[in-house]
Order: sequence, then C-alpha cells, then structure tokens
Amino acid sequence: MLIADCPKEVAMNISGQLTVGDLPRVCPLLCRQTNPGYGGDQTRVVEVGGVRFGNGSPVVIAGPCAVESHEQTLAVTRAVKHAGANMLRGGAYKPRTSPHDFQGMGVEGLCILRIAREETGLPIVTEVMDTRLVEQVAQYADMLQIGSRNMQNYPLLAEVGRAGKPVLLKRGMAASLGEWLGAAEYIAKQGNLNIVLCERGIKAFAAGEYSRYVLDLNVIPAVLANTFLPVIVDPSHATGVASMVEPASRAALEFGSHGLLIEVADFATGRPRCDADQAIDGKTLARIVKFAQQRHEQLLFAQRAA
Ligand code: PEP
Ligand code: MN
Repeated sequence: MLIADCPKEVAMNISGQLTVGDLPRVCPLLCRQTNPGYGGDQTRVVEVGGVRFGNGSPVVIAGPCAVESHEQTLAVTRAVKHAGANMLRGGAYKPRTSPHDFQGMGVEGLCILRIAREETGLPIVTEVMDTRLVEQVAQYADMLQIGSRNMQNYPLLAEVGRAGKPVLLKRGMAASLGEWLGAAEYIAKQGNLNIVLCERGIKAFAAGEYSRYVLDLNVIPAVLANTFLPVIVDPSHATGVASMVEPASRAALEFGSHGLLIEVADFATGRPRCDADQAIDGKTLARIVKFAQQRHEQLLFAQRAA
C-alpha cells in the first residue's frame, strides 16, 4: 500500500520516530522529568569496585580491545595501572564483523582478566553478548558491558539487569538518544539502576573515509539534560585512529563526559589482533589521565571562586 493511500492519522505517525518529548513515557525510571529527586542537574553516582562514576572526578577505563594472551594482557594492564587509569577493560567475548576473525578467548580470557585484577587491584569491565553467558561473565567481571551491536538486544538487557552487577551500556552505532535511553530502561526495569552510558561514535556519511565512526560530542550535554545516569565516551572506537584518541578524549571531557573508555596496546609484546590502528601506548594514556585530573581540578577551583 502506498503512504498516500493510508488513512491520514496512520501516515502522520508512520515513522515511529521517538523525540525527547517521548522520554517520560519511554523511560520513566531514568529520565529527569519523571525523577525530580535528582534536582534537575544531579548525577546518580554508580560505584564499581570502589571507582565512582558521576561524582565529578573523571573515570578512565583502559585496556586491550581483546584479551589475546596472558602475557599481552598483563603487559597492557601494568601500563594501564602505571598511567594512573582507574579501571581495566578487555574483551573475552568479541563481536567481530566476520565469523572467521578471532572471537576472543572466552572463559580463559575471563580468568586472565581476574589475574590482572588481582595483581593491580583495577576493577574489570568486559562485554557479554549472549543471555546464556551472563551468569558466567558476571562471576568474573565487576561491570558488564553491552556493546554497540547489542544495544537493542532486549532479552540480553533484561538478563544483565537481573545479574546484580553495574552495566556499561554502549550506544548503538545508529541509535537515537530516545532509543539509547529506552535500552537503559530495560536494565532499570529489572531493578538495576547502576548503569553508565557510553557514547562510542555513530555511523554518518563520513564514516570510514577518514575515521571509523563520527564521535557525537553533542549527545553528551543532551544525555546530561535528559537523564541522571553518568555518561562516558569511547574515543577509540569513535575515531578508529590512534592519533585522534588524545584530542577526542580532551574534547569529550570539555563536553562534560564523566569518563573515558580507551583501548591500549603494549606494542613490545606484539601488534594486537584486534583494532590495532586505534590502540594508544601507555605514555599517551598517562597524558590523557593527567589532563583529566588537571581539568577536573581547574573546574573545582573555578566553581569555588564563583
Ligand atoms: C568494545 O568496546 O570492545 C567494542 C566492541 O566496542 P563497540 O561495541 O562500541 O563497537
Ligand atoms: Mn575494539
């Protein structure tokens, strides 16, 4: 049937597109309008193994794209700790575009992450992609990551909501703000409000030409205006280019991001099998951590002086 043949009221609503005005209906548990207790500008503090998201001091999560071996993960973890980052990332189950590519080490990778955690004390965030594996991953991880490709996997969102662990919810690469917050609401509906949002770049006409995705910095103030959840930025997947990660990190913090999720490699132990072009070294990470701390102190100083 052509749209022109539809009854008028159907044609008027045919796109089903959400707007910010729909948020009180779509995500009443999470949006500011329906939760005046957050005073219009306060952020919910989400705690992960002693690390606090949303309390003003930016959280830097860093680590390899994938756990590839014991040696590689320990070398990167030591660099991450030395640089002063707060948490360790690393994928044991990897969402890869081709089924022929390295899919991650699975439970063995989770064990390596635990060893890295024991050595450094850094809490771990790692991705879970399968409802059948939520319980397993939750036994090892301090925080469960939902990747961009699974942002609208509603049974998976409900399952991580029930797992009793904080969740890092990455934005779908083509998701609107309403769809992203609607996804977060699936987790919240299970009684788990310990959710941190993560902007990781969106598909746009320029994607792939000079960067992997387009880092949507504009969404940060929009998130802060519409929900009390903390939001961080992944400059690694957003740009796909190692030399862009440091300026993108600084820009994200200027836009109000509560933290960063960054991929790091120790090139001395070998080139990563996964996302090597966007991995930065420990020295660059240390500069980013220092910038984050200094910027936070400057803001505190300016607030006290005002
Ligand atoms: C990741 O952070 O490991 C990852 C796969 O990112 P994304 O889901 O944003 O592509
Ligand atoms: Mn990656």
